[in-house]
Amino acid sequence: MSATAANTFDVVILGGGSGGYACALRAAELGLSVALVEKGKLGGTCLHMGCIPTKALLHAAEVADTARDGMTFGVKTTFESVDMSGVNAYKDGVVARLYKGLQGLVKSKSIEYVQGEGALVAKNTVEVAGRRLVGRNVVLATGSYAKSLPGLEITGRIMTSEQALVLDFVPSRVVVLGGGVIGVEFASVFKSFGSEVTIIEALPRLVAAEDEAISKQLERSFRKRKISFKTNVKFSGVTASGDTVSVSLESGETIEADLLLVAVGRGPVTAGLGYEEAGVALDRGFVLADEHCQTNVEGIYAVGDIVPGLQLAHRGFAQGIFVAEHIAGLNPPVIDEMGIPRVTYCDPEIASVGYTEAQAKAKFGQIQTYDYNLGGNGKSQILGTTGFVKLVRQKDGPVVGVHMIGARMGEQVGEAQLIYNWEALPSDVAQLIHAHPTQNEALGEAHLALAGKPLHAHA
Ligand SMILES: Cc1cc2nc3c(=O)[nH]c(=O)nc-3n(C[C@H](O)[C@H](O)[C@H](O)COP(=O)(O)OP(=O)(O)OC[C@H]3O[C@@H](n4cnc5c(N)ncnc54)[C@H](O)[C@@H]3O)c2cc1C
Repeated sequence: MSATAANTFDVVILGGGSGGYACALRAAELGLSVALVEKGKLGGTCLHMGCIPTKALLHAAEVADTARDGMTFGVKTTFESVDMSGVNAYKDGVVARLYKGLQGLVKSKSIEYVQGEGALVAKNTVEVAGRRLVGRNVVLATGSYAKSLPGLEITGRIMTSEQALVLDFVPSRVVVLGGGVIGVEFASVFKSFGSEVTIIEALPRLVAAEDEAISKQLERSFRKRKISFKTNVKFSGVTASGDTVSVSLESGETIEADLLLVAVGRGPVTAGLGYEEAGVALDRGFVLADEHCQTNVEGIYAVGDIVPGLQLAHRGFAQGIFVAEHIAGLNPPVIDEMGIPRVTYCDPEIASVGYTEAQAKAKFGQIQTYDYNLGGNGKSQILGTTGFVKLVRQKDGPVVGVHMIGARMGEQVGEAQLIYNWEALPSDVAQLIHAHPTQNEALGEAHLALAGKPLHAHA
């Protein structure tokens, strides 16, 4: 089939997840002609199997804990049980409303939405069910899938986040394989729902990508919540029989459970899609892209989880917008990967941006750090949460890392990312007034202290 005007676009985007649809929306806004190809549901992993449904589960988990803990605040409540059909109806309702809204948004723009499985058949062409979409530019945005380990088959009671999101029962005992973001979030949900939880992590600490102090605090909090975890230990196998699984570790230990959740990371969806044939350079399946999200093949861009780096929805949005603006000739500023905020929504919440203490030492040499303990924060006392805000600055220079743990800390990351991205000095932030009593105030107090004028803190 030859390319006709109807099949020729300024931008052809393969994959309608966070990266792909953000690119489509921005490109259309800028007056570019756009085709967006999606084989599943518009919105991708984040909306249907990631950010949104997991955060709905975490909110239901918080409600369960609030019901349990009412008497701490003098309110007589009793926690009866979790009704998974009710939880799923609530979660699915949230997803459905957002899905509808997103579909309407894409429809309202002049975007050619093509439903179907596409593949790159030439460096400027995506083919979907025999239709050839030719793009002056092509954006690869095919996302990621839940990985497993060699020989570990995902079946029945051995599942990934995908199946765990649609569970219709609360398991009594769960083993979570992997203490990264997805692992600790699910561990937190299961515990609040009433399961006995054990996390298995091969690395020396939970959430190993975070500052070491954050991992230590999370481990303390999880111990308090009676979430078991074993670090520095490798999984060696699992056997399933009926409704139970028996998980073996290289240490020789065996753990019996009703369910094994495999949360060992996400791999790129790039195999068999014609990328290599078109000459696109890959590294272990990930698409290599430069700071302009451009691959080694002219006119082919890549965004989101298929590009090495943080696998986060808002990174995908930012890259998608960046590519659209770059193609439109707006010369947008390149994205600083370190300036992308990171939130882990377990209880307690973790939020960070910039360099960890160890990374900052390696990069900048001389640094200063300050830990503001939430014990001195009024709102934290009201909520009954513990944790801290840790700042990392270049010696006598700007703040290059903000690391926070405690209730509602995810909501504080907005200011933290401004501080990092605007290269603020502690004294710049210290002069800004933070509302009292809020969790946000802890961020202000930490900067006051680092600027040499602590208020509710010892120097
Ligand atoms: C359990 C879980 C929780 C998460 N929580 C968060 C969170 O709280 N915050 C956060 O920022 N991130 C979170 N993430 C990560 C986030 O979901 C991803 O970073 C984000 O979805 C990546 O966007 P993407 O566009 O690269 O890929 P995806 O969202 O995976 O989208 C890719 C799309 O491409 C489509 N596609 C693939 N191949 C083809 C093809 N051949 N033809 C047509 N279409 C194709 C797929 O169907 C899919 O819709 C979570 C992920 C998981 C799994």
